[in-house]
Amino acid sequence: MTTNQELFDTARELMPGGVNSPVRAFGSVGGTPTFMVAADGPYLTDAEGTQYVDLVGSWGPALLGHKHPAVIKAVHDAVDAGLGFGTSHPSEARLAELVRGRVPGGQMIRMVSTGTEATMTAIRLARGVTDRNIVVKFAGCYHGHSDGLLAAAGSGVATLGLPGSAGVTEAQASETIVVEYNDRAALEAVFAEHGERIAAVITEATPANMGVVVPEEGFNAFIREITQRHGALMIFDEVMTGFRITEAGYWGASGRVEGWEPDLFTFGKVIGGGLPTAALAGRREIMEHLAPTGPVYHAGTLSGNPVAMAAGVATLEHATAGVYAHVDEKAQIVADALTAALDAAGVDHTLQKVGSLFSVAFGTSATGVHNYAHAQAQETFRYGPFFHAMLDAGVYLPPSVFEAWFLSSAHDDAAIGRILDALPGAAKAAAQ
Ligand code: PLP
Repeated sequence: MTTNQELFDTARELMPGGVNSPVRAFGSVGGTPTFMVAADGPYLTDAEGTQYVDLVGSWGPALLGHKHPAVIKAVHDAVDAGLGFGTSHPSEARLAELVRGRVPGGQMIRMVSTGTEATMTAIRLARGVTDRNIVVKFAGCYHGHSDGLLAAAGSGVATLGLPGSAGVTEAQASETIVVEYNDRAALEAVFAEHGERIAAVITEATPANMGVVVPEEGFNAFIREITQRHGALMIFDEVMTGFRITEAGYWGASGRVEGWEPDLFTFGKVIGGGLPTAALAGRREIMEHLAPTGPVYHAGTLSGNPVAMAAGVATLEHATAGVYAHVDEKAQIVADALTAALDAAGVDHTLQKVGSLFSVAFGTSATGVHNYAHAQAQETFRYGPFFHAMLDAGVYLPPSVFEAWFLSSAHDDAAIGRILDALPGAAKAAAQ
């Protein structure tokens, strides 16, 4: 048997930090990363044969759990037909139909391969449509790793304690204005000064990359109103929330119910069912600015890949109301147990939750966590011991306090029971 340590040693020789995405290196929690070799339902198994209840869900795609039979069959069938054609094929439109069926504002869709590509393309499109250059983003919101969006980007950037990224030029950074989340006055001030140059405001439907932060009542609607007033576009980044939570996403409380819709959406994660697919979507007159109907260029060798489309179609076809009810219920059970365990151990914290997405922020009860400054001010040192106590008890959490916990429809009573059993010990570890 090759141990996790041996695999990590080899990986570090060959890849920067031994990883292909920074948070996997366990930098903020310490210790040796687990090298997973199999995933099934709510479980992951590492190279040493240890099984864990998975609360990362491949960072979001695994809404139905790992290896859902219908998804696996659809992928096998697609593979049997060929890995890719480099042409149009029928299942692209099928996935687009499924997205539009739930997101009426997404009249037209362009498939891409990653969330980064979706937001990057949405921004280029917004600039092309408005003929303006400035983009406004919120501190702590992560929209992937394209240059202009890395300012105050939460997630892995926060985990590493970086202000942004080296390699982003001043020219690029100067076209991004960062505003504190939930701060209407700050957004008003930015529009008062730069209104005629702002192409778009991009926001997570509910931020979940600085831990989860709840949008204050009406905040998303305010973004809609102020962008409309100044002729800028609103880009609603639903890479994380789309087709996962019903409360904050467009097809939940913040959009249809309140009677407004953004100009552009970005999706990823769940719509790819675990394979590399993401998308941007929006009204026809905006989307038709994309090549080949319009002058804003976007292309992709693997865009709309048939195997990835098959995984996405099967996932969305099985993402029924029952799935969401199950995931919401189990998330509530785990969140309640987490709060109870931390309370019992005397650990000051805030439980941040929107729908089934939640995270914990230590030492923040005095302020709550309404923005990135609050999230960064938390007692991050408590998460390492908490994480490792959970890992030792067979529960795999996100290896960063700034990431949300993901449940799935495969998390049954046995899996939830293992999480609940592990929490009291982990809470005591966090108390030290
Ligand atoms: N937007 C949001 C809200 C995300 O959470 C992420 C990734 O976590 C992205 C964009 C980038 O997606 P990807 O990692 O597929 O490039």
